[in-house]
Amino acid sequence: MNTQQKLEILADAAKYDASCASSGATRKDSSNGKGVGSTGGVGICHSYTPDGRCVSLLKILLTNVCLYDCHYCINRRSSNVRRARFTAEEVVTLTLDFYKRNYIEGLFLSSGIVRSADFTMEQVVLVARTLREVHDFRGYIHLKTIPEASDELIAQAGKYADRISINIELPQQESLKHLAPEKNLHRTREAMGHIREKIEEHAPVQGAPKREAFATSQSTQMIVGADASNDFDFLQRAGDLYSTFKMRRVYYSAFSPIPDASVRLPLKAPPLIREHRLYQADWLMRFYGYAVDEITTEDQPNLDLDIDPKLSWALRNRAFFPIDINKQPLEILYRIPGLGVRNAQRISEIRRYTQVRVADLIKIRVNLKKCLPFIITADHQPSRYELDSEKLRAIHAPPARQLELDFAVIQVPKAEVIGGEF
Ligand code: SF4
Repeated sequence: MNTQQKLEILADAAKYDASCASSGATRKDSSNGKGVGSTGGVGICHSYTPDGRCVSLLKILLTNVCLYDCHYCINRRSSNVRRARFTAEEVVTLTLDFYKRNYIEGLFLSSGIVRSADFTMEQVVLVARTLREVHDFRGYIHLKTIPEASDELIAQAGKYADRISINIELPQQESLKHLAPEKNLHRTREAMGHIREKIEEHAPVQGAPKREAFATSQSTQMIVGADASNDFDFLQRAGDLYSTFKMRRVYYSAFSPIPDASVRLPLKAPPLIREHRLYQADWLMRFYGYAVDEITTEDQPNLDLDIDPKLSWALRNRAFFPIDINKQPLEILYRIPGLGVRNAQRISEIRRYTQVRVADLIKIRVNLKKCLPFIITADHQPSRYELDSEKLRAIHAPPARQLELDFAVIQVPKAEVIGGEF
């Protein structure tokens, strides 16, 4: 098999991993004439597959041969797919060739487990070490690590990578036992803890001598819709990962049905809107100060797919409103539907000089339709009747459709971009 044929197989096999964003990497460059490549703080070259997944240009597996049999994975031992395997040298050559042709800005390297976790990890580390030490490559490197590999090898991966990640895959041990019997949540958490310690050990300290390089952050991914876990389970696990291991990002990847799928898997993919709502809920936890049990609870464990989770919280807590945006502190303004972090901060600036009016909100492009029923301004006061009206939810929810059609046509509303103001 030539390199082109291997590339076709191993790039295709890597497309299911969504955790490839490069934000937060330390800037390295070769503008002084030394080395090859450069890493922007953000923006490794991404492309988007038709199903909406974010894929970097050189995003490959070292091999899709795997000893494990994770039911949700197309590369599992029992899967009937064409197999291929790159040598470390081939990946290095490809990365440099693609880089020099301006096709890519970095490498995202993952692998099936061949021979053993340690053997595979050694090969992954060899690629990164050769790129960095032999070719002085200064582009972005993201290495997917294997939790079962030794701590020493994971630490070596961190030395050469800008970001390392371990996919937790499913939020609960019972689900892993059912769908990925060789994986173990406890061992994955141990490896994440070890990475966190190393990141902190190597973090630069102002005024102190420069420390040995190490990845600046770690991320992980969970597959949504492959098991019976509900949104509360996902968000609770994400909250745990952010607080315990200081994850940079938790990615949620809607399960895609795969050819020759295991009977343990659902026949249908979950609606993509579920993945989107999880990202919005995740955003609320990280930037808006919401606790997991405010967004979903054990009694109502799934997110409302028709409206965003912030509006959903507001409708469940109507007594909290209306909020006087001229008086309340910033963390209260963050709770107003339709008002994002940036606009809440702008309002807090404006009100230092003048009373905020509806015209000011129009100027900073606040989503008035969503916001006005919940706020008091110098010239606007919603009625209690309006706030308590049953119609409030209906205004924002899409019109009812036939259930079967929903799965096919439901789209993420344009205004609700992940990470946008909502
Ligand atoms: S270990 Fe990774 S590559 Fe192997 S079957 Fe499981 S998810 Fe797939």
